[in-house]
Amino acid sequence: MRLQLCLSAVLIPCALASQTPAAVQRAANSITPEGVRHHIGVLADDSMLGRATPSPQLEQTARYVAEQFRRFGLKPAGDTGYLQRYTVTQRVVDTQASVIRIAGAAPATLKPGSDVYVLRFTPLPTRELSGPVVLFTGTPDSANPLAGADVKGAWAAIIATAMPQGIQINPEWVMAVLRAGAIGWMVISNRPDAQWQNRLARTTAPTRTLEGVPSDTELAAGAFEIRDATAAVTLGIDPPALRARTGGWTARRLPATISYLVKERELARASAPNVIGVLEGSDPTLKSEYVFFTGHMDHIGTPGAGEGCVAKGADSICNGADDDASGTTAVLEAAEAFARLAPHPRRSLAFMTVSGEERGLWGSQFFSEHPTVPLANVVADLNSDMVGRNWKDTIVAIGKEHSNLGATLNRVAAAHPELRMTPIDDIWPQERFYFRSDHYNFARKGVPILFFFNGTHADYHQVGDSPDKIDAEKESRIVKLLFYLGLEVANAAERPKWNPESYKQIVTGGN
Ligand SMILES: [Zn+2]
Repeated sequence: MRLQLCLSAVLIPCALASQTPAAVQRAANSITPEGVRHHIGVLADDSMLGRATPSPQLEQTARYVAEQFRRFGLKPAGDTGYLQRYTVTQRVVDTQASVIRIAGAAPATLKPGSDVYVLRFTPLPTRELSGPVVLFTGTPDSANPLAGADVKGAWAAIIATAMPQGIQINPEWVMAVLRAGAIGWMVISNRPDAQWQNRLARTTAPTRTLEGVPSDTELAAGAFEIRDATAAVTLGIDPPALRARTGGWTARRLPATISYLVKERELARASAPNVIGVLEGSDPTLKSEYVFFTGHMDHIGTPGAGEGCVAKGADSICNGADDDASGTTAVLEAAEAFARLAPHPRRSLAFMTVSGEERGLWGSQFFSEHPTVPLANVVADLNSDMVGRNWKDTIVAIGKEHSNLGATLNRVAAAHPELRMTPIDDIWPQERFYFRSDHYNFARKGVPILFFFNGTHADYHQVGDSPDKIDAEKESRIVKLLFYLGLEVANAAERPKWNPESYKQIVTGGN
């Protein structure tokens, strides 16, 4: 079969693509440890202050990437030049305008941030939510999460137990009551004072939301937490006694109603960039299809950015050299190598560095909702997030089992023993890394992906993730592997295919 012969002849270029082995070799040779070290040195320098989203240093990073793309001769593929911008809105609960009333054993007017911890999902319901209370007690029964109760139009209440790390709410129960039409859910907890104060502070802290993406309307319900003492007075129940009950999962309607009105006000709006450049394919037909190379430019900044960076001694900059200046660098080094290759691969190649990854995959989510090239024509996303540390000769390629990109990668790696780099399967499935970086926003839209990842380390999200710890020689071999893989995928007669089971699980089931 022609296709098979063409695909398996990795060392002998496919007849349809006309890059000579010497030209491929020359292009690959432009990927060097020095190049890797240079880019990471710039991106993760202390002067970049850890590239938080949004920040002037993130903008500086985007300008640097765009300037490299321009230098390589890539075609601008953002909304304005190489840049695509998205908006982020900062909001805070308007404690003056918000109130939760409980009309029961003793009527009470409760204030978010002083008496109530308001859980803020997106979108926060804007209308007043009033209804009766259905209290669930006992040990949650996943076979019968509603315990036979009718919760339509009601508030579902549950008793929670505080542990040092917080409380645990059974997510199956939450989804079950919301699907059955509950207007909200309430938690009654016995958190100790310090933990409770911490929660109240969360209620009044500003949150940032990405605009222009569909929100999960299933969660557009009210959710809040009160303490045992408040519940005892207002609802006339004995929470400690109810908490002690095990087994016998039951639900009963209380002689009480709750009315919830929580309003937010906008504090500020900011925008953040993605950077996208395209290298046009050489095949008149296949050039309308794209192979993507992605990595995230942003990191968690400094303690002031509110993304979890913690100072250590005099060092207060989370440089993010491995996470993910290394992936941004992989995109840059791969782009440069492909730009040097004549003729170009048959399919077009798109190089994209996104921001807001650390905040919740913002940039890639925005791109997946507002793609600048048709997503249906994107045949693969090869994402690099943390590829500059750990094992010398091994790289984890997450998602190998979900499409035939896995087999292609194995074949390409076997054809290049000089790289001394073995791609292995996901060895941490329990960590669900497949869902935790930017490739996921491609996968959920139906694009087969591979995610290159060297695993975490003691410096993960710490000030110690600095450029001096990067193994640039190793990363240069990973980028060469990405280059050979990208070339194979871009030249192949057929586009990569999902495994049908994975497609069902990740694409159709996930939406
Ligand atoms: Zn990270």
